[in-house]
Amino acid sequence: MRGIPISIWQNRIVSWDLAILSNIVPLDADQALSAYWRLCDGEVWSEVLQPDGRIADFVREITARWPDINDVSDDQLDSCPWSIGLSPSPADVILCMRYDRVDVVAPVCVDTALRLGLNVFDPQAGVLHSPGQEPRAITPTPPEERICAECGRPIGQSESFGKHIDSEGWLHIGCLFRPKPGGTPRAGF
Ligand SMILES: [Zn+2]
Repeated sequence: MRGIPISIWQNRIVSWDLAILSNIVPLDADQALSAYWRLCDGEVWSEVLQPDGRIADFVREITARWPDINDVSDDQLDSCPWSIGLSPSPADVILCMRYDRVDVVAPVCVDTALRLGLNVFDPQAGVLHSPGQEPRAITPTPPEERICAECGRPIGQSESFGKHIDSEGWLHIGCLFRPKPGGTPRAGF
């Protein structure tokens, strides 16, 4: 698993996303994360989710309040909460909204989708909202295991570690500062 996806463009986080997902087949949070990733990767929606007519109902309702960015004139752009056009499929619509509008727009999107019977995945929080259920969180990704480049033993989650300016890998702090035989301590941050 690759962790929590966030819209990134030229290394900048540009929007805050919600994925409205088909609820023909019930999803758990990990399945919703996987579906979101696959859709973001450009996989065909029909390979990922079942078509759900309520997606079109959702888009109709939400764009009646906040028109798609592709449908507003230049002088209305400032009031448009979307950062990217909506491009819904029959099974999903991914909403990319401006940070300064999230507080108002996101709760309305969640409420509208749940009222229509759809799933809402929040990739920032890693939480799936489904009708009639408490929000469910994705399974946490285990932290990456680091191996000390000096002694070859794993670096535990609670152990301090660092990097030597001349070496590639991570080292235990003790290994980093251990003098080389006949030499001086190697470390320096
Ligand atoms: Zn070590």
